[in-house]
Amino acid sequence: MSSIELANDSIESDYEALVSFMYLSPVGLVRTDLIGKIDMLNPKATQLLMPLVKSTGLENLFETLACAAPDLRNLVSSFRESCGSICENHRIHVSSAADGGIVLACTIVKVNDEVLITVLTDISSQVATERRLKQTDSWLDAIYTIVNDFAVLGLDKQGVINSWSPSAERLTGYAESEAIGETLGRFYSLSDMEVDVLKEQLIFAREEGWHSRDYLCQHKSGVNFFAQTMIAVLRDESDEFSGYTVVFRDITERKVSSDNLANLLTKDHLTGAANRAHFFNLAEKELARASRYEHSISIIMLDADHFKHVNDTWGHPTGDEVLKSIVKIAEGVLRPGDTIARFGGEEFVVLLPKSNSAETSAIAERLRSSIEASSVEAGDDEIKITVSIGCASLSQSRSTLKQLLVSADRALYQAKSRGRNCIVDIDDC
Ligand code: GH3
Ligand code: MG
Ligand code: MG
Repeated sequence: MSSIELANDSIESDYEALVSFMYLSPVGLVRTDLIGKIDMLNPKATQLLMPLVKSTGLENLFETLACAAPDLRNLVSSFRESCGSICENHRIHVSSAADGGIVLACTIVKVNDEVLITVLTDISSQVATERRLKQTDSWLDAIYTIVNDFAVLGLDKQGVINSWSPSAERLTGYAESEAIGETLGRFYSLSDMEVDVLKEQLIFAREEGWHSRDYLCQHKSGVNFFAQTMIAVLRDESDEFSGYTVVFRDITERKVSSDNLANLLTKDHLTGAANRAHFFNLAEKELARASRYEHSISIIMLDADHFKHVNDTWGHPTGDEVLKSIVKIAEGVLRPGDTIARFGGEEFVVLLPKSNSAETSAIAERLRSSIEASSVEAGDDEIKITVSIGCASLSQSRSTLKQLLVSADRALYQAKSRGRNCIVDIDDC
């Protein structure tokens, strides 16, 4: 075989490889002259251009693309170089989003003064994803900046604020520079005791994926408002815990009206103390919390001494005033997390989360002495009243609410029999 024949063979096999490539290529390839007349196109190009083909057939590329990309012809004719890239990934919207959203990316290369190669790629799904992302972006943007009573912010794994938004600034009054690096407690009106609740809500969110609670918050200006806080756990691409997203919502108005309802359902109408049902509800929750975190918890049972005598001497309405005054005094003595409930006529129970027996006795003594020191006016008289108190704290043998209540009641009975106006701890009986 001569060297010319060998060279021919090699050219032929190169040509065959090129034709195979054209046919099998996953992108559309079109060879045209400078005015767009097609002399070669692969099956993928035919498939991609088919929706645009009209009665004139698929003879001229620019004519076929005229309605979707009328600018292409100009682009090519204004290209003055003898070769080079005329356009790269020029987007051609073949059909509207409602009609399937077919989008092609078109790259045209001028090979020489007679040949253009056009590469067409179907990028419909990529564009659809972009559109969805854009929608999500503008949706988030709306939450971040436009929606008035929502605020969004981010916390790192330790619960420290690491992202802030205009909506968060609007709701709290704090600028980004004042908020980044702080914890959520910055915006809550919290007692020392409730600072633990703050840590707890992050733990709950981690355990359950999210956690929601209403807080009394304070705007930078000092004005208080109620906010519903929703904390959701954030995970990175590899599903690793990476922090929290917090959505605050100003619910002051709703809270005020629902508070009226809540008061009706949870409070004793005469004294404003919690009612029995609410007490049991709270106590069961606190007891579960105490066993979860191995906190102590205590119960105080309190009964007015010789109360029948008050009623008999000054009348029932005055007796009512005395009951109200007992609750008022107790609210001044107790800590924010403690709850006093009216258990029966002139009998009250106090729930003291996180209090051991010594702390409980100290609070009980303050209660007793404050009530003893007080008086209620009835005409010219000053009514003096005393109370007897029984205390019981959580222990191995007293682990249920019922056991705690029975124990505190037994201690109260002891206090009565020891002469009233005194406190007894069940462990000292
Ligand atoms: P002790 O020191 O043993 O507790 O004596 P006491 O008189 O306080 O106890 P007793 O159980 O004999 O009497 C309780 C009284 O409380 C009787 C009842 O009329 C009165 N009482 C119950 N509920 C109310 C109320 O809502 N208002 C008023 N004013 N009195 C009430
Ligand atoms: Mg009594
Ligand atoms: Mg009684």
